[in-house]
Amino acid sequence: MIRINQLKIPYEKSKDEQGILISKIAKKLNIPKTEITSLSIVRKSIDGREKPDIYFVYSVDVALENESKLKPKVFGKDVSKVTKSAYSYKPSKTVEDSGKTVVVGMGPAGLFCGYFLSINGYKPIIIERGKKVEDRLADVEKFWETGVLNTESNVQFGEGGAGTFSDGKLNTMVKDKLGRNKLVLETFVKFGASPEITYVNKPHIGTDVLSQVISNMREAIIEAGGEIRFETKLTDIVVKEDRISEIIVNDNERISVDNLVLALGHSARDTFKMLYNKKLHMEPKAFAVGVRMEHKQSLIDDAMYGMRHEDSVDGLLGAADYKLTAHASNGRSVYSFCMCPGGYVVNASSEEGMLAVNGMSYSKRDSQNANSAIIVSVTPDDFKDDNPLSGIEFQRELEKAAFDAGNGKIPVQTYGDFKLDKKSTQFGNITPVTKGNTAFADINKVLPKSLCDALKECITTFGKNIKDFDDEDAIILGV
Ligand SMILES: Cc1cc2nc3c(=O)[nH]c(=O)nc-3n(C[C@H](O)[C@H](O)[C@H](O)COP(=O)(O)OP(=O)(O)OC[C@H]3O[C@@H](n4cnc5c(N)ncnc54)[C@H](O)[C@@H]3O)c2cc1C
Repeated sequence: MIRINQLKIPYEKSKDEQGILISKIAKKLNIPKTEITSLSIVRKSIDGREKPDIYFVYSVDVALENESKLKPKVFGKDVSKVTKSAYSYKPSKTVEDSGKTVVVGMGPAGLFCGYFLSINGYKPIIIERGKKVEDRLADVEKFWETGVLNTESNVQFGEGGAGTFSDGKLNTMVKDKLGRNKLVLETFVKFGASPEITYVNKPHIGTDVLSQVISNMREAIIEAGGEIRFETKLTDIVVKEDRISEIIVNDNERISVDNLVLALGHSARDTFKMLYNKKLHMEPKAFAVGVRMEHKQSLIDDAMYGMRHEDSVDGLLGAADYKLTAHASNGRSVYSFCMCPGGYVVNASSEEGMLAVNGMSYSKRDSQNANSAIIVSVTPDDFKDDNPLSGIEFQRELEKAAFDAGNGKIPVQTYGDFKLDKKSTQFGNITPVTKGNTAFADINKVLPKSLCDALKECITTFGKNIKDFDDEDAIILGV
């Protein structure tokens, strides 16, 4: 197999990408087109540096009639031989020796753990405190409409986990030496996602499609012999001779276990506390907190493409995204995270009297606004003490302040008013696009001053990268 990188095609010609790529490859390898027996795209990204000319840039793998005939001079930086190796799942114990495995949580981690165990014959039990995705969607919709929170079935808890309402973006900074990321993407395709996600630079499924994919994966787990129990919460563990012998669910049922997988995610604060009290080793870690920021999608499109994505030839350019980082003079790092082109800011709370937001988009990414988390690094030094759970207390204080600031609704402010430490009373030329109601507030009263200072300084810096990113009318929502 030969890998060829850096094949550029003007975006407007990409409808015929296969034909153009074959011609380019034949020329590059100095062979007739008929020598190419197969072509697969490994990566496709956008190059907008020569605006108004926008290109798609491809890496492709090709198989040839006779690879050994290639002249040595064709190989170089962008042409190399590759051997394809697929990830293979090799558990340390056989099915017969493995005993009973319980997976706790059915977010991305628990879902894939349960899926691979099941299709390899291990018959795990997967327990999930929330509901199956169809019922969960109804609870979440109700919460966004009425503000009435179900603390066990919400944006964080339920089949699919917190990822279900996170836009279905699938990029990771983890290097894929073993091919695991690729297998995850291929598995999503097998269960209904677009094949494009296996090669585009920033794959995206969309919340709407992802819920269907997850429910298809559930059926496959059950068909392969796995058992899934919804509305079943791990509430205690029984430790005998230094190992977990049983778990207790919903405070009343005991299940014996040989292997326990804790795929609890980020928000199971009650379960973390229970496990800490049971002396499981835990360490505090640094994380990041901040706000969501909304701009008109057209502002981001103009900065990235020099045109609106709707005006691109045959609509071939999707809503544009961005990634920004800066360092504030007080030593904090500020960066954009989970950018949602054509997205929504959603109320993602999971505890009563507290409020957190997230970003989400549907597969079409067609709302009028772009949003992104603009977040500031915090370390255990910011927390009250060195207890491993102090970071959670830090989060709770911010979430409570956010809830109070918006009276239970998502606190919202224009960037201009945020800079002036002033509660907004009206929007300018951008209105927020949210799931869940909003209320004007002053976010300076929600986040600690050093974080607000860092945000203000770095958002101004971001305005140098993307024109008008720091416009007074841009919207910030928290936390
Ligand atoms: C507030 C927030 C915002 C985020 N924003 C984004 C974003 O914008 N974009 C993005 O790509 N990623 C985002 N993420 C990250 C993304 O959601 C996670 O990377 C991903 O969901 C982690 O997968 P997971 O399986 O480890 O955990 P989760 O998805 O959290 O799944 C854990 C599952 O375990 C279940 N569970 C917990 N405790 C128990 C128990 N005791 N018994 C039984 N079941 C239990 C929960 O109900 C849940 O379904 C965000 C996360 C959070 C919390």
